[in-house]
Amino acid sequence: MEIESLIKSKVRDVRDYPKEGIVFKDITPLLKDGKAFSACVDAFADLIKGRNIDAIAGIEARGFLVGSALSYRTGIGFVPIRKKGKLPADVISTSYSLEYGEAAMEMHKDAIRRGDDVLIVDDVLATGGSASAAVSLVNQLHGNVAALAFLIELGFLNGRKLLQGHEIISLARY
Ligand code: AMP
Repeated sequence: MEIESLIKSKVRDVRDYPKEGIVFKDITPLLKDGKAFSACVDAFADLIKGRNIDAIAGIEARGFLVGSALSYRTGIGFVPIRKKGKLPADVISTSYSLEYGEAAMEMHKDAIRRGDDVLIVDDVLATGGSASAAVSLVNQLHGNVAALAFLIELGFLNGRKLLQGHEIISLARY
């Protein structure tokens, strides 16, 4: 089966979660299917094959699942981007807006080196707010964003607009 149809057949829509009006794309049925999960990781690996990528940066929490599997598959090291207060060593930080209020994301100062080419990974591209915060962290450390990779892109939320100038890889689009 083509990867986009495979993902769409495995992702569960949960209506009104976490609040009314949101259709949550639940990837747990996809993760539970070992063949489908492997096919997604292999698809990402094929798309970045031959490219110079020094680090895979996963956005907490579901970006860790996809990102660390891709790290194992490619042998490229994994870097966590976490919510404020979770990382133990020296961090850099960036704040970003949520629908209501603000949040902050952090990365270890020594997570990437100046000039590193970094692939940012998450499960879903929605409004692009968290992905653009991740871009800003990589840029603060003078890294280059090689591309951003998502299992799912919610095209109607126009997340690409916030990420203009960056290559976006998404395996399934809604
Ligand atoms: P964004 O609006 O692009 O900043 O998305 C915020 C975070 O919430 C991302 O890490 C997404 O994985 C997650 N997210 C946002 N909207 C959805 C949705 N409809 N279904 C599943 N996850 C979502």
